[in-house]
Amino acid sequence: MNQRPEKVNTPQRAHDNFFIIISISFIELFLYVILYVYYAFSFVWEAHMKQETTIESLHSKKKQILQTISELGDFRQGSLSPRYRKCGKPYCHCAKEGSKGHGPLWMVTRAVEGKTVSKAIPPERVERTFEQIERFHQFQNLVREYTEVNIKICDAQLEAGKEASREAEKGG
Ligand SMILES: [Zn+2]
Repeated sequence: MNQRPEKVNTPQRAHDNFFIIISISFIELFLYVILYVYYAFSFVWEAHMKQETTIESLHSKKKQILQTISELGDFRQGSLSPRYRKCGKPYCHCAKEGSKGHGPLWMVTRAVEGKTVSKAIPPERVERTFEQIERFHQFQNLVREYTEVNIKICDAQLEAGKEASREAEKGG
């Protein structure tokens, strides 16, 4: 007696469930579409605002780097190293085995148009010359940084241009 109604009801219930599931998925889909539109819009707006502030902050970064460069002391390009030399006299101490030779004579060298240019540095100026060379490396790093900032500005301007033309397309 109990088995019969169940047999009749089961397909009916499954049928109802099917429509409930379908309608729930449509509501979910609708909500997802709304969320998607909302996020897409806020993303575009945020990106636009970010670009405005990015370009501004990059310009102030440029000024800051130039300021740092202008405050950098005097510097020198090249590498500083001690040189030892053997005079060639057979009875000199430099002729003995294991002797470094006469020196040290400190020389700054750098390549200019494929040729090595050297400059002798007196012993009392060696420390200062190392500082000057170190400062040159700081200058190089600042120039690299300055170049990167400029590239970022140009990139941001390109992006802003793309956005502007996209908005113009929408408007027109
Ligand atoms: Zn010698």
